[in-house]
Amino acid sequence: MSETIFSKIINKEIPATIVYETDTVLAFKDINPVAPVHILVIPKKEIKNVNSLTGDDKDILSNMFEAVKIIVEEQGIKESGYRLVINNGKDALQSVEHLHIHIIGGKELKWPPC
Ligand code: 5GP
Repeated sequence: MSETIFSKIINKEIPATIVYETDTVLAFKDINPVAPVHILVIPKKEIKNVNSLTGDDKDILSNMFEAVKIIVEEQGIKESGYRLVINNGKDALQSVEHLHIHIIGGKELKWPPC
């Protein structure tokens, strides 16, 4: 898999506002937020998207959702609500080929998104 901008953030080669970090997961503020809270949760392992997941990635996925739970509490949006988005592939406009969960919240969101 080719290196993406997120690999550079993981390796601290480019800056990001990191809000959560473990051995397996990193979360940081989206550079172009669409809501008052817009955070990206990524695995440190290079996984292109959902299609690339294997049975070996179960713990990583669990760790990513543990991160979501901690972050929404810290950001004060646990009770008000939030949206989790995974854009997967071309039609979904996935622009960075490294699996990521968008946490979007802090205001009332619109639906449908398309
Ligand atoms: P996608 O469209 O692939 O689901 O989302 C990629 C997200 O990464 C976009 O919301 C975009 O704003 C964010 N992004 C792209 N490059 C950078 C960067 O260098 N730093 C940060 N913090 N976010 C980025």
